[in-house]
Amino acid sequence: RTDGPRDFIRQIVRDDLAAGRVAMVRTRFPPEPNGYLHIGHAKAICLDFGIAREFGGRCNLRLDDTNPGKEDPAFVEGIKEDVRWLGFEWDALCHASDYFEVFYLAALKLIAEGKAYVDDLSAEEMRAYRGTLTEPGRPSPWRERSVAENLDLFRRMRAGEFADGSRTLRAKIDMASGNLNLRDPALYRIRKIAHQNTGDAWPIYPMYDFAHALSDAIEGITHSLCTLEFEDHRPLYDWCVDSVDLVHHPELLEPLRRQDRDVQPSRPRQIEFSRLNLSYSITSKRKLAELVARGLVEGWDDPRMNTLRGLRRRGFTPGGIRLLMERLGVSKQNSVIDYTLLENCIREDLDDHAPRRMAVLDPLKLVIVNLPEDHEEALVFANHPKDESLGTRTVPFARELWIEREDFAEVPPKGFKRLVPGGEVRLRGVGIVQCEEVRKDAAGRVSELRVTLDPASRQGLPGAERKVKGTIHWVSARHAVAAEVRLYDRLFNVPAPDDESDGSSWLDHVNPEAKRVVQGWVEPAAAQCAPETHFQFERLGYFVSDRLDHRADAPVFNRAVTLRDTWAR
Ligand code: ATP
Ligand code: MG
Ligand code: MG
Repeated sequence: RTDGPRDFIRQIVRDDLAAGRVAMVRTRFPPEPNGYLHIGHAKAICLDFGIAREFGGRCNLRLDDTNPGKEDPAFVEGIKEDVRWLGFEWDALCHASDYFEVFYLAALKLIAEGKAYVDDLSAEEMRAYRGTLTEPGRPSPWRERSVAENLDLFRRMRAGEFADGSRTLRAKIDMASGNLNLRDPALYRIRKIAHQNTGDAWPIYPMYDFAHALSDAIEGITHSLCTLEFEDHRPLYDWCVDSVDLVHHPELLEPLRRQDRDVQPSRPRQIEFSRLNLSYSITSKRKLAELVARGLVEGWDDPRMNTLRGLRRRGFTPGGIRLLMERLGVSKQNSVIDYTLLENCIREDLDDHAPRRMAVLDPLKLVIVNLPEDHEEALVFANHPKDESLGTRTVPFARELWIEREDFAEVPPKGFKRLVPGGEVRLRGVGIVQCEEVRKDAAGRVSELRVTLDPASRQGLPGAERKVKGTIHWVSARHAVAAEVRLYDRLFNVPAPDDESDGSSWLDHVNPEAKRVVQGWVEPAAAQCAPETHFQFERLGYFVSDRLDHRADAPVFNRAVTLRDTWAR
C-alpha cells in the first residue's frame, strides 16, 4: 500500500515522507458529538485511520465539541463504539474543549499583535457589513479599536461581563477579500451555556475554523483531511495556523504542559476530498436526527438508518463497508454512489464469511407420506460451501416439513423450476420428492402438499445424481423454531430524496415498506446463536440475529440484504 499511488492524498503523504517534510504522518478524525456517525463518516474514518495505519503513523479521535447545547456525552460514547466497530483504534482520544485555555491565549496573542479585535456589531449587522461575492465588505466601526481596549474587552468577555451575542472577537484580515471567509471572520462568540466537558467554566466559545486549525496544530497533525466544502476555508485555516504559530510560541501551550501533556505542535496542512453521497439515502446528521424525532424510525440504531449503528443492527459488516470505501477510492470529484454498490460489498463480505442456515419465511406444510410418522434423522450439513474451516452442523429431518410457499405452484408460470402437482424437486441435502397430492383449506388455499421421497435419490447414494430442475430449502416442522423476521428495504423510495427542486420535501420520500415483519421458522442451529450472528439463510438472503432483541428461545432476525439485487421500482 505504501509503494503505489492509490489516490492523490496517499501520494501527497508519500512525497512528504520521502522528502523529509514530515517524520511521521499524523491524522485525526474530528466528528462533532451532535449525533451518531453515518455511512458518510465511514469514508473519512477509513481515510484518516487507514492512512495512519498504512504509513506507520498515528490517528487521533478528536471530538470537535465547540458547540455546546447541541452536543451530548451519549453521542461521544456512540462515536467511540462506532469507530471501533468499523475496525479502527485511535492513538489519543482528544476533545477540542481540552484546548480552550490555549485557544484563549492564542486569541490574546492575536489581539496584542493587532490581528484581532472586539466587535460590537450584532450578527445581523455583521452579515450586512460583510458584503457579497460581487460587492466588497465594509469595515466595522469598531475595527480600529486600540490593542489595549481590545485586550480589556476580550478579557471581560471571558469574565462573563457581556450578554450573549453582544460582542464577538474577529480576525482582522481583509474586508475586500474575494473569499468571504477572510472578511474578518469571527473567532469567538459569547454564549452563556453549560458545556458537556467544561461545565460553566467558559462564557465564550471559539468558532469552528479557529478551533479546528489550532487543534490540528496542537496535536501535531501533519495532514488534516476534510471534505470539499472546506476548500474555501483553507486560506483561513492557514491564516489561523500561521498567525498563531504554535511551533514558535511554546508559551501558548503552557496550560497543556502544566497537565503533563507532551505537546509537539506542527504546521498542519489541510487537504480536501469529496464527500460520500449515497443514492436512496440521507447523509446529514440533522436530517437523520429529524427522522428519529418525528418517529419515522425507531431510533438512531433503527436498521433502516444509514447510521453506522443502524447498518450494524441491520446486519451490514465493517468488512463490507471498508470494502466499499476501498473500491470508491478518494478524489475531489463530487458524485452520488449507487446504493447497490454498498449492498454488493456487503454481499461479497458475507458470502465469504457467513455460515449457511435454512429458514422458511412463508411456510407451506409438506408431508413425506412414505416415511413413518416418527421418522427422525440428523443430517450433516456443511456450514459453508467454499470454506471447510467453518465446519458442519446437524439439521433435523422428519416426515413433516415446512417449505417456502412460493416454491410450489399449482399453475406454474413459464420457466418455473420448483414443485408443481405431479412434479419432482430436490429437497436440499435430502433427495428427490414427487408431489402426489395438493390439499386445500375451506377457503380454497393450498394448505398441505403430500409427496413421496425416492429412496434411491437420497444424498450420498448413486441415485442422488439423477437430474431434477430445482432444489428447494426446508425445515423440519417438529424441530423448527418460530422466529420473528424483520425484512428491511431502502428507507427512501427515490434515488435523491434530498433533491427538493420539484417542490417536494425529503420527508415525502420515506419508503413506508422499508420494514416488514413476518413470522418464520428457522432450523435449531440458527436459533441457538448469540445476538449479532450473521447467516446466509439459503436462497433468502443474509440475516443477522438482532443484537438487542434476539434470544435462542425467541429468535429475532433482521435481513441485511437479499442474495441478489432485487430493487426495481
Ligand atoms: P453532518 O453534515 O452530517 O453533520 P458533518 O460534516 O457536520 O456532517 P462532522 O461530525 O463534523 O459531521 O464530521 C466529521 C468528519 O467526517 C469531518 O471531517 C467530515 O468532513 C467527515 N464527513 C462528514 N460527512 C461526510 C461524508 N458524507 N463523506 C465523507 N466525509 C464526511
Ligand atoms: Mg462538521
Ligand atoms: Mg454538521
